[in-house]
Amino acid sequence: MTLEVRNVYKSFGSVRAVQDVSFTVPAGRVCGLLGSNGAGKTTTMRMIMRILLPDQGEIRWQGQPVTDAVRAGFGYLPEERGLYPKMQVREQLIYFTQLKGLSRGDAARQVDTWIQRLQLGEYARRRAEQLSKGNQQKVQFIAAAASRPALCILDEPFTGLDPVNTLVMEEAFRTLAAEGTTILFSSHNMDQVEALCDDVVLLHRSKVVLAGTLRDVKRAARRQTVRLRIESGDYSFLREFPGIRTRAASGGAIEITVPEGVDPNRILQRALQADTVTEYSLGEPSLREIYIEKVGGADA
Ligand code: ATP
Repeated sequence: MTLEVRNVYKSFGSVRAVQDVSFTVPAGRVCGLLGSNGAGKTTTMRMIMRILLPDQGEIRWQGQPVTDAVRAGFGYLPEERGLYPKMQVREQLIYFTQLKGLSRGDAARQVDTWIQRLQLGEYARRRAEQLSKGNQQKVQFIAAAASRPALCILDEPFTGLDPVNTLVMEEAFRTLAAEGTTILFSSHNMDQVEALCDDVVLLHRSKVVLAGTLRDVKRAARRQTVRLRIESGDYSFLREFPGIRTRAASGGAIEITVPEGVDPNRILQRALQADTVTEYSLGEPSLREIYIEKVGGADA
């Protein structure tokens, strides 16, 4: 049940949207497709769904080329959301799920379960156009998930959700993954990707620049990360270290990306001279830092 994208190319006129992209999503794994705006994520997903056909290359599922019949079994949350505005939410979800081959009874049971999981009970009998954008997105997620597909392609499923609905969606996403669905999804939220993914593929300017398990990707990154908190909150002494990057972290701490050639212990020593250190830990770089290193600071 592996998805294989092999040496795929796609151009739109003179724009090379996807160039020689190859990656594999093994069965039952969750893979995050990352990359800055215009990197080629949506184009790649549309080719997997056969909305677009590659100029070159091949996409395979379970060792076979993806045909229209095979693709019809995939769950898909498209970037451009498309529900029937005048149709009741529950009715259209049952309809979409029946299109995937379930009986009406099975479709209704699945849809009702997912409506509960996504906390959409009070909206089930409303027309789609009466729902907020975020709730419509949750409905579209159900449309992708309710048929229990072996593969789900989710194009930015978390974009535009408020913090509470983000948690609800993350929980539903985890449930889908736990039920064994292979998932490829795109997101710009690195912390979220890190929390949800087994594997990552990073596209940059239409090419794969990084691919592998999250663990391997982190191990391969040369930089270390220091989490530091000092009582005064004045971190200006860090300017003495050339090339380090910082970002605010929770609880008044900062996260420091330590460049090669700088000893993290020197940072601790300097912090102790400057102030009272209330927190110091040394760890692997976050996915966000790895992303910035690879992509050069744009759109993390
Ligand atoms: P975002 O994060 O902004 O959604 P993306 O990684 O999904 O970006 P794509 O939408 O795949 O990027 O776009 C890749 C490139 O292909 C961009 O330069 C885009 O302008 C171009 N492109 C995509 N679709 C078309 C199209 N139908 N016609 C012309 N150019 C296109």
